[in-house]
Amino acid sequence: MEISDEDDRNIIVEAKTINPIHFTYDCPYCYRIRSGRLVDSPFCKRTKRLLSSAVPTRHFHGSGGDLSNRIEHRVSHCTVNDDKGVFIKITNKTKRYK
Ligand SMILES: [Zn+2]
Repeated sequence: MEISDEDDRNIIVEAKTINPIHFTYDCPYCYRIRSGRLVDSPFCKRTKRLLSSAVPTRHFHGSGGDLSNRIEHRVSHCTVNDDKGVFIKITNKTKRYK
């Protein structure tokens, strides 16, 4: 599959992990902070400081049992930015789990 740059309908991310059931990626749009709330940025809106507790949400998608390097397209599971599709690059850097 050919992909060019991100556009207003799709983002491009790298898969963090893959196993025969799922691959995962860390979402650039939703972070969970200490209170448990989901926010759209790891920076405090008021102070502009990085929130040390902000952890990117890891979204899961079905891998179809295929652990090979490739690019997959999915409808985002993101609740913060749910209008975009996502291209997920599965590369040599993606951690494989059996
Ligand atoms: Zn998300």
